[in-house]
This record gives sequence, structure tokens and C-alpha cells, in this order.
Amino acid sequence: MAIWLVVGVVLMTVFNQFNTRQPPQNTLEYSAFLDEVREGRVAKVLIQGRTLEATTLDGKKITSYAPPDLWMVSDLLKYNVKVVAKPEEEQSFLTSIFVSWFPMLLLIGVWIFFMRQMQGGGKGGAFSFGKSKARMMDENTNQVTFADVAGCDEAKEEVSEFVDFLRDPTKFQKLGGRIPRGALMVGSPGTGKTLLARAIAGEAKVPFYSISGSDFVEMFVGVGAARVRDMFEQAKKSAPCIIFIDEIDAVGRQRGAGLGGGNDEREQTLNALLVEMDGFEASVGVIVIAATNRPDVLDPALLRPGRFDRQVVVPLPDIRGREQILKVHMRKVPLAPDVDASILARGCPGFSGADLANLVNEAALFAARANKRLVDMDDFERAKDKIMMGAERRSMVMPEEERRNTAYHESGHAVVARLLPKTDPVHKVTIIPRGRALGVTMQLPTEDRYSQDRERLLNTITVLFGGRIAEELFMHQMTTGASNDFQRATDLARRMVTQWGMSDKLGPMVYGEEEGEVFLGRSVTTHKNMSEASLQTVDAEIRRIIDEQYGLARRLLEENRDKVEAMTAALLELETIDADQINDIMEGKPPRPPKPVATPFKPPVDDDNKPGAAPNDDAAAAEA
Ligand code: ADP
Ligand code: ZN
Repeated sequence: MAIWLVVGVVLMTVFNQFNTRQPPQNTLEYSAFLDEVREGRVAKVLIQGRTLEATTLDGKKITSYAPPDLWMVSDLLKYNVKVVAKPEEEQSFLTSIFVSWFPMLLLIGVWIFFMRQMQGGGKGGAFSFGKSKARMMDENTNQVTFADVAGCDEAKEEVSEFVDFLRDPTKFQKLGGRIPRGALMVGSPGTGKTLLARAIAGEAKVPFYSISGSDFVEMFVGVGAARVRDMFEQAKKSAPCIIFIDEIDAVGRQRGAGLGGGNDEREQTLNALLVEMDGFEASVGVIVIAATNRPDVLDPALLRPGRFDRQVVVPLPDIRGREQILKVHMRKVPLAPDVDASILARGCPGFSGADLANLVNEAALFAARANKRLVDMDDFERAKDKIMMGAERRSMVMPEEERRNTAYHESGHAVVARLLPKTDPVHKVTIIPRGRALGVTMQLPTEDRYSQDRERLLNTITVLFGGRIAEELFMHQMTTGASNDFQRATDLARRMVTQWGMSDKLGPMVYGEEEGEVFLGRSVTTHKNMSEASLQTVDAEIRRIIDEQYGLARRLLEENRDKVEAMTAALLELETIDADQINDIMEGKPPRPPKPVATPFKPPVDDDNKPGAAPNDDAAAAEA
């Protein structure tokens, strides 16, 4: 667009240059001109439109501009002036065409330009709607192998069969085995489903077509189905190969569900997909891999044998898996000797593969910002905090009163957490605003945990109340800062009662159905299978749990006022305290000074020769 604009402006200017004529010199007023004529000094007059150009007897030229004067010519003749008339000077034919057509041409140019853009490179013209938008990656551009996928060994094992098949389809056919046509990868976002599918293609050295389920869905009915057919058409041509459909739930939702009845377009697309998957012989060598994180909303027809009959679960990595994934990604950055992937892996439970990749990247960015040569443990810790708690907002100015309030609030959480058994150890407390929180108390589990017991849940609720109670006890006020705590506490209590059967009064029963995505998936309406009476009991039970834990938290904090005061003082002074310092405070000792930061942040220094400019020089030398 910019280029077009510049061209347009340049043309206009050039054009204007030509168009403006030099104003004639020696221009006289009309009456002065007439005087000249009357005095007989003019020999000849050239009339061109309204412009008069006179030549005097002594050969000088004078010009003037005539008003509509009918008698002018007869006047002139009376004084013996030779009169010549010419047609008004016309713009040249070409310029006039140009002037009248230029805007039109510009418009047409812009239009063509946009059409090109819309067609994405212009292949297929304006009628390429029905073409599949699958991106093809051939065996040379796809360099991902199983070595790049870490921490999901079971999933890798399950799909390695596909690799064997793609490498040598005939081997299996000779034995009459039926190769699955497709696999459904199930797992939360970022667990590496796409990566694993690409690794299969990379290992087998076959082309990899990837498309997202939402790419099929268009405004026009029938387009999605056409795209599905086109995609299979293309894939068959380059078989053996892999088709990867990301987010298949966009098209593969159960038919006839959702608000407003069925969605014709989506159903047609899904039907086309089913037909295609049935239609090709397994021997063709096309394997369809789909990914989703909601297998529960998929149409059962998709999961029948001969379609996505194999489900590969790609779970969130456990601690060992996280360590391996970190190592995979750490290969790409220069590491300081103090970096220990196993310690890091322990500190980020619940991180997905994508989070871990992001962690390494953020750490490298922190190191680069501080002009370091190597990425050290400190960078990784800061990156981890940023991902877990949101970016620090140091620039946010908090009034002193609010800072004190936040410090008491976080101390309240931390002290209660430390006093109760069966809670996750407090890892860090900070009153630096992060993300949308004013302060954070970070608890980290010592190991990955896959279920929760009742006591642990109750204690979690108590810890959540610690914040508000500390505000009340020490600041004698209530703030809105605790609303999220309450929400989580109430939610936990409700689920303990209604889903997990942890209330003695109500017993092991599920009350009310779990409300999923109400307006999209299968559950268009949730049935409340609850009588009015049990509804009341449920409420009463939730209330009881909350009241009891609130009371417990209050008692704990009242008995340990000194600890809260000490921790608040430490927080106000240091802003962030870690597990060791919290230990000191809980033992009644003054907190130890904060660990010296290995490489303090320095503004970028360009001069490499300045002594001490690069704080990490020693480490670099040691490495070398
Ligand atoms: P999904 O498709 O499950 O949403 P992706 O495969 O797109 O997740 O993962 C995104 C990125 O996260 C990958 O490109 C990779 O860098 C990283 N990643 C995810 N899982 C793993 C893993 N198991 N091993 C190594 N890297 C991973
Ligand atoms: Zn809180």
C-alpha cells in the first residue's frame, strides 16, 4: 500500500509541474492596454480566449486579460492593429485523459492489490475457497524427531508403530495387519501434541500436512466439506504422509448439539471427514492424526474403529518429564555452570511443555537484558516467577497504607500456611505487584500430586482466609483484595460437598451436574437433580466448612500476632522474602539478609573494555 501511495503522490507532483504554466511577464491592466492601443503604439494583437498578447511597434510584447468586451475587436481595427485569433489553448489530449482517468486507475490498482492479498499468493484465483488450507511440510523442512519430544515416553511408544508403518507400508500388509488410519491425541494445550505428530513425520521422513479444525469452518455452507475432500486429495498424491488436524473439536463436535439446533456447515464438514476416512484404503499410507483437549465433546462416530480408533494421551509432564523437556530446550542456550534442571523442574509443578519452552526463552531474555554471556540460575528463577505469578509491576506506585495492608494480608496467608500441617510449603512471599495481584504468597508442592485429601483441602481453605483475617486484626479494615481468596475458598468448599462426597451429612453423592461449557458442547441444559431440601443442606454444609476454617484461621493468627508483625516488617523492608527467611521468622529469629543477587541488573554498557563492564566475564573465562 505504501508503495502505491508514494507512486501516486510522485505522479501527481510531476503532473502538476507540467500543468502550471509560467505566468506571462509584462502584464498590463486592460485599460492600460487600451491606452497603448489608442496611442497607436500597438502593431498586432493575438487573442487567445481571454488572453491578449500584443506586440508593440518597437517589437516589445505586452499581455493583458480582456473582460467580456464586445467592441474590443472593432476598437482594435479602428487603430490599425492587426488582429490574430487562436482557439483557446487546450490541455494536451494525453494529459486530459490522464487527469480524468488517474483516480479510476488508482482505484483499480488498489482493488487488484487487495484481491491478490486475499488469495494468499494468488494461486487459484478468486475461486479457491474450496481448496484446503493445509500447510505442507516436506521431509526436508521438518527436522523434528523423537529426540525433541521429551517427557511423554508412553505416548511416544504408542505412536512409534506409525513410524514403522510409514517407513515401510508393505511390511505390514504382507502379514495382513490392519494399520490404524488415525490417532487422536488428547491432552491439555501445550503438552506437545503438535510436536509429537511432527516428530512422527520427521522420524518416518514423510511429508506432514497440518491444518486446524477451525480452518475448515467458513461462512459458506459446503466450503468446509470441499476443503476436507481437497485435503485428502492432496495427501493421497504425496502418500505416505501424515495429515494433522489440530483442534478437531472445532469440526468434530457431536452432531445435533449446541444452541439453535445443528450447525449445517459443521455437520457437513464432519460428514465429509468421516466419509473420506472410510473411503481410502489403509494401504494408501495416509495417517490422520487429530489433536484435542476436549475428547468428551467429540462425535462418537469419529472414535469408531477405522477412524480415530486409537487414543494417545499426552499428559502434562511429571517432575522427571519436566527435567527432560527443560534439557531439550536448554540445548539451545548457553548455560552457566550453576544451572540445575532438576531443581528447576521441581519448582514448576503443572507446567506444560510449552510453558517450559517459554521458561527457557524468558530466562535467555533476562540474561540478554543484563548483558550476560551465559544464562544462569538467577535468570531461570526470575523467568519462573514471571510465568507463575505474572510480570513484576515495579513501576506501580502503591500508597504506603495499601502497601502495609498488602504486607499484612500476605503475611496472614504465609503464617497460617506455615502453622498448619499438610499444606504446601511457602516458597516465597512478595508485595511487589505482579500481574493483577497486589502481592503473592507462593506455595509449592514438594512433589507432583494427582489427588487431594480432605484435610489438605480444608487447610487450603484456611490459608485462603488468612489474608483477610490479618487485614482485620492488624489494620482494622476490610479491603477488596481478598475477593479472589473467597471465591477460591467457596469453590473448594462447594466441590467438597457436592462432588467429592466429603461432607458427613450429605454423604458420598454428587449433587447437581457438573456444568461444563453450557452453550457449546453436549450439555445444553444442566439438570439440577436436587430437591429443595438437599439444596438447603448443601448450602448449610458449605457454610459450616467455611465458618469452621475461618474460625481456625482467626485463632491461629491471634495466637501468633508476633510472627505476623515480624513478617510484615520484613516484607515492608525487603519486599520479597524466601523460604529460609520465613523459617527464621517462624522460629522467632530476625530474618537472615537476602541472598546476594549473583548478577545485579546493570544498564547496558557498550564499552566492553571497561573494567567490570560485563559482570559475567569470569564465568565465561572459566567455561572457556
Ligand atoms: P499442543 O499442540 O499440545 O498445544 P505444541 O506441540 O504446539 O502443543 O507445543 C508447543 C511448544 O511447546 C512446542 O513447540 C515445544 O517447543 C514445546 N513443547 C511442548 N511439549 C514438549 C515436549 N514434550 N518436549 C519438548 N518440547 C515441548
Ligand atoms: Zn490473598
